[in-house]
Amino acid sequence: MNHQYSKIINKFHSALPVINGWIDQLIESNKEKSTPVIDLNFSRINQIFPKKLLEKAKVVIVPNKIPFPPLSQMGLAELSGIEQMPIAGITFKDTFFVNQNILTQSLHFHELIHVVQWERLGADNFLLAYGVGLIQFGYEQSPLEEMAYSLQKDFAKGTVPDGIVDIIYQKTDAIWNQIRPLVSQ
Ligand SMILES: [Zn+2]
Repeated sequence: MNHQYSKIINKFHSALPVINGWIDQLIESNKEKSTPVIDLNFSRINQIFPKKLLEKAKVVIVPNKIPFPPLSQMGLAELSGIEQMPIAGITFKDTFFVNQNILTQSLHFHELIHVVQWERLGADNFLLAYGVGLIQFGYEQSPLEEMAYSLQKDFAKGTVPDGIVDIIYQKTDAIWNQIRPLVSQ
């Protein structure tokens, strides 16, 4: 990690309360519009994920732009490139937002991976791990995304391994072990 990176990571640390507040407010203001994933009756997803998780995870269908924290306004101009990226879905804590034109089971599967990652890491550590992954590797190669895309490929092939939650926990722990030394203050 060079000096420039560590400067951004320090700024990211300072911005965590603001990002968390923005996320909580977004979830709160969409509560009425959210549906537990279990109610969508996805045949394959229901077989892969535990019922408890599908009752907890909620989805909000969005007509146009997927909500994204205004990072440049939060003092994180370095990461503002991602704000402009067209995205099909995004997960904040146990709630994910998907574009109404892309309501595939595969996209819901992908976002559920992130729900488990959020649960495992907790909000601050998820945001740090995600942010550092973005800074280091870019969007698709960032480790938490790479995991979600890789399992999504398994989903397409019908080869998702049994015990997916434990597998996500293990992979997430391994990612965190790499990132923790970079973000510890
Ligand atoms: Zn993703």
